[in-house]
Amino acid sequence: MTELATPTATGPQILGPEHAVPEGVPLAARATGACKFYGKGDNEVRALDDVDAGFVDGQFTAIMGPSGSGKSTLMHCMAGLDTLTSGTVSVDGEDVTAMNEKNRTMLRRDKLGFIFQAFNLIPTLSARENITLPQRLAGRKPDQGWFDTVVETVGLSHRLDHRPSELSGGQQQRVAVSRALASQPKIVFADEPTGNLDSTTGNEILTFMRKAVDDLGQTIVMVTHDPYSAMYAHRVVFLADGKIVSEMRNPTGDAVLDHMKTIGH
Ligand code: ADP
Repeated sequence: MTELATPTATGPQILGPEHAVPEGVPLAARATGACKFYGKGDNEVRALDDVDAGFVDGQFTAIMGPSGSGKSTLMHCMAGLDTLTSGTVSVDGEDVTAMNEKNRTMLRRDKLGFIFQAFNLIPTLSARENITLPQRLAGRKPDQGWFDTVVETVGLSHRLDHRPSELSGGQQQRVAVSRALASQPKIVFADEPTGNLDSTTGNEILTFMRKAVDDLGQTIVMVTHDPYSAMYAHRVVFLADGKIVSEMRNPTGDAVLDHMKTIGH
């Protein structure tokens, strides 16, 4: 394990934007000079304004920033769901910006997992069927050993034959987390994954996500506005007005909250 991937006893450490591409560690994904502009002239909006960011392999990174700071745009462009105006993004060393739509679709299918605020489960399928559906659609046979490891990690083993309507919100999100992890993607993107859950259940989900990183080696990038969700990450990257302004390693909820005040959240 790298020094970065291991929370240390030194507590939260705040760094400037020049550290947003960590050096000497493998990156699962990175953005280089990423710009996304909407409109022209006086109406131009710089959703991303020359963003350089690296997401470390085997690490849990949170992206934070005020509403409109570019969090979703960055995540969507990294995941090949949206395109940049200029600059590049790469996943697992592959230049996503150079891909055509078909290759981007294959990248999403083969290398990425997604967790959203809405669980997006199929109501007529059991938990087990929901988890394995993306792989079946891709014509792949789910790896039973990995499936067992994932559902055990998220504590779902005894609920696999239930349909979503027979599960609590927290259990439904565990199914969605398992579905994202099932194909062993290079990177999982999560967008406010606990936004629909009460805080106790949300904390359980975040604990499972962190466990998936620490115990299973998964890489996760999560957009959130909540300091007490961000503290489950190894590292928090802060955006404002389309630019990375700072980052925090080994975050705590209170330290993130205090830091947000200093950067005008
Ligand atoms: P966040 O996720 O941090 O709330 P977004 O990435 O959604 O921020 O948006 C960044 C900026 O880009 C905002 O000012 C938003 O209004 C603008 N924006 C996003 N999508 C569009 C669009 N399709 N057309 C015009 N402006 C957009």
